[in-house]
Amino acid sequence: MRAFFAAETDAHAPEFFLKLGKVVPNEERAERSKRLRTALDGLGVAVETPGHYGDEPILAVHSARYLEFLKGIYGEWSSLPAAGPEVVANVQPRHAGTQYPPGIIGRMGWHMGDLACPIGKGTAEAACRAADTAVAAAETVSDGTLAYALCRPPGHHASAEVAGGHCYLNNSAIAAERLRANGARVAILDIDVHHGNGTQSIYYRNGNVTTVSVHAGAGMFYPWFTGHPDERGEGEGEGANHNISVPVGASGAAWQLAVADGLAVAVGSGADALVLALGLDVHESDPLGALKVSTHDIFVAGEIIGRAALPTVVVQEGGYLGPVLTENLTAFLGGLRGSHPSG
Ligand SMILES: [Zn+2]
Repeated sequence: MRAFFAAETDAHAPEFFLKLGKVVPNEERAERSKRLRTALDGLGVAVETPGHYGDEPILAVHSARYLEFLKGIYGEWSSLPAAGPEVVANVQPRHAGTQYPPGIIGRMGWHMGDLACPIGKGTAEAACRAADTAVAAAETVSDGTLAYALCRPPGHHASAEVAGGHCYLNNSAIAAERLRANGARVAILDIDVHHGNGTQSIYYRNGNVTTVSVHAGAGMFYPWFTGHPDERGEGEGEGANHNISVPVGASGAAWQLAVADGLAVAVGSGADALVLALGLDVHESDPLGALKVSTHDIFVAGEIIGRAALPTVVVQEGGYLGPVLTENLTAFLGGLRGSHPSG
């Protein structure tokens, strides 16, 4: 298995996070990457630096005006008198807006779907290098092997032109598009504890990729408004989107069954390559988690997914600074490599 990580992603150091009406430290910190790399070291997996692939793979997923916004907004914001340290939108269009707003505050609201995606000085570069990391991993699996993309910031809540939930560029979709460009038929299986709403929206009306999300508590947990089983896709995408929601507080055994069901749907779609969106925030000790999933359950999930024997790009999504973040990545990749024919 090959693994990729870009050191520039550590420059994304968000501070702002609003929880129950209070500003508290943001959980999506560079310390996460450090702890995840410790797992790779322990497994004896060398960490490679991804190449620079430019805007093209990002524009296969995101709109040009969104990428321009992401790259330029911090500079614009910093030139405002008395601007705060990070870009945080204070208006959002919800369902009313149809005209793209020219002003800075309006564009912030257009492209920032909630308050959990502050943009600081290093955010755009980090997001673009995380996208490079996903592309580099996707480039390596055509021979049937496994690759791991240590992407930070994560991506599965980002839609074609809206950031949200710690996510700016959808690394899993970017990996999927690179696999498709190389001729693969792709399914994305997302096992983060939160619904992969950004990924769902990107493929909802085209069905270019089969999307399967296994998550906690549709309607009762972030992202609050999506993730229900009856969201099946529309038009060309009808039937290509699948949501498996387990109740908040569900057991590890229930979660394992849901992962197996999700994998069966992904395999049943006829996919010949898999993007596995890995959220270690399923663990019972995760600060943003909602399930009773143990480290051993995560190992078993890796085993289940490896048995599909598909070329697989594992893209890191959530998983925050709980006490066993390192152990959980070790467990997942250990299970995956143990059962996958390429090891
Ligand atoms: Zn998550």
